[in-house]
Amino acid sequence: MTSIPMLNLRREYEFMKSGIDAAIARCLKHQQWILGPEVGQLEQSIARTIEVKHAVGVTSGTDALILALRAIAIRTRGREYFDRKDEIITTPFTFVATGGAILHSGATPVFVDIDPATYTIDPKKIQAYLSRRSSRVVGIVPVHLYGQACEMDRIMSLAKKYRLFVLEDVAQAFGGRWKKSMLGSIGTAGTLSFFPSKNLGGFGDGGMVTTNDPELARVARMLMKHGGEGKHDARYLGYNARLDTLQAAVLLAKLKFADRFNRKRRAIAKQYTRILSRTTPIVTPTASPHAFHVYHQYTVRVPDRDRIQAELRKKGISTMTYYPVPLHRMEVFRGRCIVPEKLIHTERAAREVLSLPIEPLMTAGEMKSVAEGIQSLLG
Ligand SMILES: *Cc1c(COP(=O)(O)O)cnc(C)c1O
Repeated sequence: MTSIPMLNLRREYEFMKSGIDAAIARCLKHQQWILGPEVGQLEQSIARTIEVKHAVGVTSGTDALILALRAIAIRTRGREYFDRKDEIITTPFTFVATGGAILHSGATPVFVDIDPATYTIDPKKIQAYLSRRSSRVVGIVPVHLYGQACEMDRIMSLAKKYRLFVLEDVAQAFGGRWKKSMLGSIGTAGTLSFFPSKNLGGFGDGGMVTTNDPELARVARMLMKHGGEGKHDARYLGYNARLDTLQAAVLLAKLKFADRFNRKRRAIAKQYTRILSRTTPIVTPTASPHAFHVYHQYTVRVPDRDRIQAELRKKGISTMTYYPVPLHRMEVFRGRCIVPEKLIHTERAAREVLSLPIEPLMTAGEMKSVAEGIQSLLG
């Protein structure tokens, strides 16, 4: 029987072994485990890649969101946290951390529906909420889901009109673009995750805040190390949220492959679509003409998703569902979020989406086995 996992990280390591081993060996030699030279080097390399002036390495993508939101509160309100009356519009069709970070920052998440074609937040729904009441909205957190950019022109023009901040959650879209702009460089700030399965993943947790605003970067950096510039001058209630030297070293070695790997993901996605779009009930991903989609996930819609997933598992093919439970359905958000209207497209996507294995070193044979496996169940 074939056995195709969602991810084969060992294969990726073997592919990059010499560079990664050498990077780790250098750390063993210098022994600067906390904010060692690799952290600053990675910050500079990522800032160059994302085309922003500043990047601040942190412990995870979740902490990047929390630190960025708190830094924005400090920068724009002069207050350490937002207030519960401060509303931040985001998507319910995302990983829990996006909404959780909004709660951690003191604000209230407003969940608006997605565009059913791209699964990203629908700017028309943002507009509808903004114009419908005396607005308490302070910002928008668009999530570039599965590797594809949100409609950033419309989101940025709404932000301008209503004077809102925009924090891009780029956890799934490292290297992606909206038109000519790198994701993470368009809004007030952006956040990256280096969780091992992400397009640029480390050997553990890691994340980064990206911005062109020097003051915002300075505050985020202070929050990252206990709230002060130095060791004995804490000004804000901060965290120990430093990016590990060892992770930075591994990520620097892997960053060299990021662009090539994103192109490989796009090529695999194209082949999947060529095969799967022939099978009627399967809905293949819609790529926006303005987005350079980096396919963190290759996600299709299928009727009777749970059965299809179970049948594929029997054939040795692993798949995942991102996300079976939208955020507004989770206990943690009950009584703490605003849901302006029925989230019809989100609910439907949560029932129908299925993410197939996609990774840069996947072979053509593996891709075909997965595609034919699904076709045999639905064709
Ligand atoms: C992975 C992810 C995060 C959180 O990143 P971690 O590094 O796991 O903390 C946040 N938002 C989205 C959309 C993600 O996919």
